[in-house]
Amino acid sequence: MASEKLALLSVSDKSGLADFAKTLVEKHGYKLLSTGGTAKLLRESGLEVTDVSEHTGFPEMMEGRIKTLHPMIHGGLLCRRDSEDHLAQATEHGIGLIDLVVVNLYPFEQTIANRDCTLEDAIENIDIGGPSMLRSAAKNHAAVTVVCDPVDYDRVLTAMDEGGDTLSELRKELAIKVYYRTSEYDGTIATYLEEKQSLDGALGMPSQIRVALPLGQKLRYGENPHQKAALYGRFHECFEQLQGKELSYNNIIDITAATYLIGEFEKPTVGILKHTNPCGVASELNLVTAWEQAFETDKQAPFGGIIVMNQTLDADLAEIISKIFCEVIIAPQFTEAAMAVFAKKKNLRLMIAKDYLRADELQEVKSVIGGVLMQDRDRYPVRPGDFKVVTKRQPTEQEWSAMMFGWKVVKHVKSNAIVYATADRTLGIGAGQMSRVDSSRIAVWKAGEAGLPLDGSIVASDAFFPFPDGLIAAAEAGATAAIQPGGSVKDEDVIAAADERDMAMVFTGKRHFRH
Ligand code: 5GP
Repeated sequence: MASEKLALLSVSDKSGLADFAKTLVEKHGYKLLSTGGTAKLLRESGLEVTDVSEHTGFPEMMEGRIKTLHPMIHGGLLCRRDSEDHLAQATEHGIGLIDLVVVNLYPFEQTIANRDCTLEDAIENIDIGGPSMLRSAAKNHAAVTVVCDPVDYDRVLTAMDEGGDTLSELRKELAIKVYYRTSEYDGTIATYLEEKQSLDGALGMPSQIRVALPLGQKLRYGENPHQKAALYGRFHECFEQLQGKELSYNNIIDITAATYLIGEFEKPTVGILKHTNPCGVASELNLVTAWEQAFETDKQAPFGGIIVMNQTLDADLAEIISKIFCEVIIAPQFTEAAMAVFAKKKNLRLMIAKDYLRADELQEVKSVIGGVLMQDRDRYPVRPGDFKVVTKRQPTEQEWSAMMFGWKVVKHVKSNAIVYATADRTLGIGAGQMSRVDSSRIAVWKAGEAGLPLDGSIVASDAFFPFPDGLIAAAEAGATAAIQPGGSVKDEDVIAAADERDMAMVFTGKRHFRH
């Protein structure tokens, strides 16, 4: 039998513990130290156990809030075995060194999962001594083995049999596991308390994401008034709100979509969006003309929408825009005179987009059952060098410009997305339909409603035309060129349909789904 060692066992989940402890004692010569309920179980299994209270000379007190929080315990866990000083202090104070800690925590997660759980129940199930012991032991993993999960009992016993490097490697791994576990545990508590105690019912963020993102704004509600919501992260560092009502959940989503869209353009450009979809976009010599062209694409949908531009908004444009009702206007700057015009509209939110590029750094997160999905934002630049003309006829210069413009816009339209455009403006936009042909029909119909002829326009499609029908419909509507990713098994048929109609078509090789 090996020399005598001290193991401290204090667990809420007691599964497998008795057998594990038995092997520790009988095979590896451990003495056991334990808290109330755990000691009882071990004794019932015929093992000899010293109570922590006997070891510390202090009773467990305050309904178990204090059991192991004592220098006799933490000194035994934290003492460096390679420090003469530490060892001398341990001896001076009669602190016995603890070699192995087995702790799993009060079941906070299970407690709050119960619908009837009160705040008081939850608070009593916040383990204090357990995480403290785990953290002390994990800090001193050079000498102490720490086990926070019953699934590791067998591995610990196997490593003890092998000893040496195997055991010290396992100690490192188990220490890391501890810090993940305690941070997860504390994160769950923080999220729960935030939800439970916040007066206006902000939504707590899952702890794993929370670590990286501070609370940015408690929101009045989510997409709908019966949904709780909160904004996390640094959104408000990217924008400055000059006036207007507090931003809503939907505003924040729309502002993000609008900012991503405008980031595509260099010439003076105005975009009008509704529910994250562009209703009209135009690039012109100046913002007033750009606004007129963008607005002309759809005069109805912008009601209650979002307007974004990439140059300073002046009083002339402010006078024109202030005639329509919109929720938010975003610009890099507003002149004093423009602000004076908007000042009458107290609720209208004016936002300075401080730094469009910052938005580029962001990744997109979407919640799914049981977790979140993350992806890089779709910011693949428009690169004509990657494009391939697949038809007999080459696009004219005018068509090339229109395709570049349409391709930038279609990327920001929900799939299935179809955009009819000229070199500097949208003519018709079809968004979010389950069938590409339907999106196409809607785009043509919208252009008709706006009185904008499609003759000589180009059509941009976010993903390939699966059949020739979408392309044929575009040709019949007046489009003379098409830009799309290509890659359908029916590409040959689609190309043939374009050739028959003397259309020019470009394959981009990249698609821009947006769900
Ligand atoms: P037992 O069932 O042995 O009475 O208690 C075991 C539980 O108590 C374990 O989940 C352990 O993490 C927790 N625990 C150990 N020491 C303390 C302490 O000082 N304070 C609190 N609140 N919990 C402790």
